[in-house]
Amino acid sequence: MTDQESQEPAYSRVLLKMSGESFCRSGESGISMAEVASISEQIQRVADSGVQLAIVCGGGNILRGKHFASVSHAINAPTAHYMGMLATVINGLALQDALENAGVPTRLQSAIRMEGVAEPFIRRRCVRHLEKGRVVILAAGTGSPFVTTDTAAALRAREIEADVVLKATRVDGIYAEDPEKNPHAVRYNEITYQDVLRQGLEVMDAQAIHHCMEHRLPIVVFNYQKEGNIERVIAGERVGTRVIATPDE
Ligand code: UDP
Repeated sequence: MTDQESQEPAYSRVLLKMSGESFCRSGESGISMAEVASISEQIQRVADSGVQLAIVCGGGNILRGKHFASVSHAINAPTAHYMGMLATVINGLALQDALENAGVPTRLQSAIRMEGVAEPFIRRRCVRHLEKGRVVILAAGTGSPFVTTDTAAALRAREIEADVVLKATRVDGIYAEDPEKNPHAVRYNEITYQDVLRQGLEVMDAQAIHHCMEHRLPIVVFNYQKEGNIERVIAGERVGTRVIATPDE
């Protein structure tokens, strides 16, 4: 496969997964509003183009349940996961604020009820917001412990009938090997779900890949830090790596 651009159909409803790391500076933790504002500028242009956009926020910049429970034995694992889910709400609030400052109408929906901070996630309401041109930020993952926001992204994408899951990362796509360890590592333009699972490529968690595979929901893994990339992916340009059922699809 080549890097040539080809005319792909544009997507009309998109589920964008923003990991917690996109809310902070590289190598740091917490929240950098400068980073959030920069993502918001790209999102604003996508929203202005009329594409319906739902965003699932991660929380790893603040806390990941599995890691926290393993280093802090005094906490029960489910509690740690609930803390992780709450971290995604903190990110969701930051993103909502930045988007609203940029003039983008938004709604924040949470899988864990917290009136006064966010609407509850209600599928039909979420879809109505999208149809009205609001960017919907989906926080608190699935609302259940022991899974990640990758899984939440795959499930929500199905629920709202998104055309694609966009996984925004800091690398240019999926590589056969870690590009930081091997600068000559090959990047795939396209790869099948099966190959991602077989090769144990760390793209999204396996549950999320399985879910997308079962429903033939394409995933695009791309570098959101390259200016304009979110728009390019949504326009159907060959950016990053597409994960699909068969390479010719
Ligand atoms: N989490 C959870 N259930 C969910 C989604 C997330 O328990 O449905 C917890 C889990 O502990 C996870 C944390 O929230 O580690 C933060 O999400 P994630 O690790 O997916 O964030 P990211 O890696 O995308 O920054």
